Amino acid sequence: MDIIRSVKEMQQWSLARRREGRTIGIVPTMGFLHEGHLSLIDTARANGADCVVVTIFVNPIQFAPNEDFDSYPRDFEHDRALCEEKKVDAIFAPGVNDMYPAPVTCYVSERKLSKGLCAKTRPTHFDGVTTVVAKLFNAVLPDLAVFGQKDAQQARVLRRMIRDLNFPIRMVISPIIREADGLAKSSRNKYLTPEERSNALVLSRSLQEAKNAIANGEKDLVKIANEIKEKITAAGGRVDYVETVDADELEAVEVKSEAPIMIALAAYFGTTRLIDNMVI
Ligand code: AMP
Repeated sequence: MDIIRSVKEMQQWSLARRREGRTIGIVPTMGFLHEGHLSLIDTARANGADCVVVTIFVNPIQFAPNEDFDSYPRDFEHDRALCEEKKVDAIFAPGVNDMYPAPVTCYVSERKLSKGLCAKTRPTHFDGVTTVVAKLFNAVLPDLAVFGQKDAQQARVLRRMIRDLNFPIRMVISPIIREADGLAKSSRNKYLTPEERSNALVLSRSLQEAKNAIANGEKDLVKIANEIKEKITAAGGRVDYVETVDADELEAVEVKSEAPIMIALAAYFGTTRLIDNMVI
C-alpha cells in the first residue's frame, strides 16, 4: 500500500495505473476510520474498481470557526493498519499546506441541494465539501467515487456537482452502517459520554418507529417529524432539524405518496452534533 502526501505524486500514481488500463475508485474520508468507512472500500471493489484510493484529509474549509476542526479525532497509524488489512492500494493523506498552499479564492458551490437541512446551521459547510472533493478528484483522477448514505445531503450535493461539472466519474452511494444497537457509526461518536451515547439511540429508534408508522398507513409527514422531535427532546437531545424530503431533490414533502421520501435529522447530545436519516 502506498502512502501519498502530495497532489503531484498522487496524479502521477493514478496516471500510471490508468496507463495500465486499471480503474480507480476513490473513497474520500476525514480519517479516524470505522466500519462505515471500510464498507465504502468494499462498495468500490464491488462496483468494479481495480484500485482503491482512500483519502484522509480533515478539510479546514468545511468547518466554521466555532466548529471542531482542531479537536476532530485523528489516528493515522490506526487508519493505515485498517487500510492495509482491507488491501487498499493507496492512501492519499495530504497536509493542509499540500491541499491549500495559498489562501483559496476559487470555490465550487452548489446552489440548490446545499441550501436546506444541515446548511441552515452550517451555512458555509457544503462549499467547503464541494471544493475539497473537486480538488481530491483532480488529484486522484478516479473512475468511481463512493460516498455514504450516512451523509445523505452531502452525497446528493456531490452527485449534482459530478453531473453539472461533467466530472467523468461514476458515483455510488453506500448504505449506512450502524452499531448493533442502531446508532449510526460516526467518528464523532467518540465525543459522546456513555449517557449521551445511550440517549442518542433515540435517533435510529425514532426513525425506525416512523418507518413502521408509515408502513401502517400514516401519511401525515408533518406529524411524523413532530413526533420524532418530541422523542429526541424527551431523551435529552437538542433538535437541530427533523425534515421529511424528496430523497433526490431534498424538497420538503408533507404527505406520503408512493414516491420514496427521506427523513433526515440532526440533533445535539451534549455538545456533539449527530446526523441520521432513513429513506422510506
Ligand atoms: P467522514 O470521514 O465522516 O467525512 O466520512 C467519509 C465518508 O464515509 C462519507 O462518504 C460518509 O458518508 C461515509 N460514512 C461515514 N459514516 C458512515 C456510516 N456509518 N455508514 C456508511 N458510510 C459512512
